This record gives sequence, C-alpha cells and structure tokens, in this order.
Amino acid sequence: MHGTDNIKTKTSGYCVLCNQTHTLGPGKSIQLCLELMSMLDKTGRADFDLPIKQANPDFSTDYLFGKARGQMFGVMTYLDKLGQKRSAKAFSGQYNGHWEIPGWAEPIINPQEFLNLTESTEREIKSIGREMSELSTGTSEHAALSSRRKKLSQKLMREIHAIYKIHNFRGEVRPMPEIIYGSKGIPTGTGDCCAPKLLNFAARNSYTPLSIAEFYYGRENRSRTKIHKQFYSSCSGKCGLILGYMLCGI
Ligand SMILES: [Zn+2]
Ligand SMILES: [Zn+2]
Repeated sequence: MHGTDNIKTKTSGYCVLCNQTHTLGPGKSIQLCLELMSMLDKTGRADFDLPIKQANPDFSTDYLFGKARGQMFGVMTYLDKLGQKRSAKAFSGQYNGHWEIPGWAEPIINPQEFLNLTESTEREIKSIGREMSELSTGTSEHAALSSRRKKLSQKLMREIHAIYKIHNFRGEVRPMPEIIYGSKGIPTGTGDCCAPKLLNFAARNSYTPLSIAEFYYGRENRSRTKIHKQFYSSCSGKCGLILGYMLCGI
C-alpha cells in the first residue's frame, strides 16, 4: 500500500482544563475512508447499508455533485467496551435536509427537539418580517419590530446551542456554550462536523477512539478550498472551539 502514509491530517483542539492541545491522528481511519469513498462511488447512495429496495432517493450522491455541492465525511476507529476494534462513519451537518441516515453516526442534537425548537420561533420571525414589510423604514414601529425580530433570533440561537450536549472522555457532559474555547461567538454549524459527531458517539457509549480521518466528497466548494476525495484536518473555526474539551480524557 502506498500513497496514504503521507496523509498527516489531525483532529485537535485546545483544552483549557489541561492547558494543552489534545490531538487524535488519522491512523487506520485513512484506509477506511478510502473504502468509504469507493462505496459511495460504487453504490451512488449514502444509505448503502440498507438493501437497494429500501434506498431513499434523497440519499443519492447526485445531491453532492449538484447545486448543494459536496460535503465532509469522516471515519473513526475505536475500541468498544470489550476491547474489540470497530469503526463508525459520519457525514457533516445534514444530508439533503436529513439529520439521520441508517448506518451513520447520529447528530449531537436530537432532531425532533431541534425541530420543535426552531419551528415556532421561525414562524414568529417570519410573521414579524411580513408586518415590517407593510411599514415604511425609519418609523418607530418598524424599528421596534426589527429589534424584536433580532432579539428573537438571538434567543433561538442560544436555545439551539444549549441543546448540544457535549460529552468528553472524563465522563462529563455539558451544554455547548459552557465548553466553548475562547470568547468569540459560536458559528452556525458548530458541533455538526464529522469529528464532534463521532467523538460524542464514542464518549456517550464509553468507547475509546483510536483515530479519525475526514475527507471531502462531491463537487468542490465555491472557494475551491475543498476538493473531491481530499483529506482535511478538523476545522479551526468551529471544531477548534469544542474539540479540546471533547478529546479530553481519552
Ligand atoms: Zn469542523
Ligand atoms: Zn484536557
């Protein structure tokens, strides 16, 4: 085998508890990612763990080559409670509007809880928008509605962040806002990348992660920083805020 030994991506973040960066290497996950790529190539669907008769057209890989473009996929190897070597796979964020696909790691949030939370507030935000469109800008009513809408969406963001229950390998679990590294805001999508999904799955089940690797699959992104079938380290903008905490205690 050649060509994979030089892949040196890492999954890492700064831990404030230990005052150091915790890092997990790509190890055996690279080979499993290559196998995952060829499964996606061969089957043309992300729900390939199901028999073809049960295939959902939403999970076709065509989605990754169209308007939506590609996304990140990842594999983690780990030891289960009996010390057996196993692996799990994850896709970043949602896949064509779905949080869950059979055979893949679940999101950190409970999708139903997320839906309940967002639906009513988003309806309210939209109705304020409609009211505002009937008023001329610059009026005091317009300004009042605008500030109410802003407060509502900020409140919704805080509530969404709080339903991310983040586990680590010291046996702790805390809402995401409590474990953020640094004092900047929390970018949308924090906690939805592959590494956090995989690590949360492992920590919740008392499994021991051995390696993680992540690759991009599909049409390159607009800024061309993500290329089909290339490997990438965990991102600093989002994952950098939580992975130090999540990796602690492995
Ligand atoms: Zn990330
Ligand atoms: Zn630590």
